[in-house]
Amino acid sequence: MPYGPKFFVEKIECRNHLLRNLGQKLSGLVKNIKYPIHIRTFLNNQVKLNKFRSAITMAVQYRKSLGDSNNEQVKGLREDFSNGPYHILGQHTKCASYFCKGSKIGQINLVPEAEKCGLLREINQIYSRIIDNAPSLLLDVDNNICEQFNSVINKHLAGKRINFSQKNSYNNRVEAAVVSFNTSGKYIRNVHKKITNKSPGCVCKKYLGFKQRRLLNNRRRKLQFSTIKVNKTKISTGPDENYGLAEPLENIMINEELEKKNLIL
Ligand SMILES: [Zn+2]
Repeated sequence: MPYGPKFFVEKIECRNHLLRNLGQKLSGLVKNIKYPIHIRTFLNNQVKLNKFRSAITMAVQYRKSLGDSNNEQVKGLREDFSNGPYHILGQHTKCASYFCKGSKIGQINLVPEAEKCGLLREINQIYSRIIDNAPSLLLDVDNNICEQFNSVINKHLAGKRINFSQKNSYNNRVEAAVVSFNTSGKYIRNVHKKITNKSPGCVCKKYLGFKQRRLLNNRRRKLQFSTIKVNKTKISTGPDENYGLAEPLENIMINEELEKKNLIL
């Protein structure tokens, strides 16, 4: 251990990865035909509506806003998480009052049935990873910046297609990626200036200006629109009225059937 036996390093998990992992495992679970179809359909809808995910993010936000000590926050969060599946399946006996006001009208408690068939045990198993990582989720951090940097490295390495591990090729490319990432789009200018002690020529400057404008415009455009995606339900416009045969088909069928019946009679 590089930090010595007495110094423990705590690993903080990325929020996005934990939540994506949960979603993937739950959507895998609902495909298991071992369990009753009506619970699976219900769960599938809940997964699609991101109910599990939003229950976790809401709990994190609430516990963070309380301002308790870290241990109390983690404890409360663990309770919220372990109760999450029960709340979604319709059993509200242990629900905290800040997010749940008891069962809704017409809601059926699916917990006894899910418990009986073993589905709840599997859900709890999937949830155990979330419960274990409650301290990480409380910090509410992601590794987006690392992912962005990795994507820049991949750009310089051409992914995994070519073996660049010979000599210093790999290291040089990663270093180039570092310069590119840190200069945010002004890579050519910085490298040119460092090597020649001069600014790049007019053609290069024109190109860099174009790139910079495009970057700024993209950033401004992103600020204008909210990141929340609205699911649009597709509305069918029905058959084309000028296309023919859209409606009369039924009558023809009926006529044909009548003729057949008459023949038989
Ligand atoms: Zn509830």
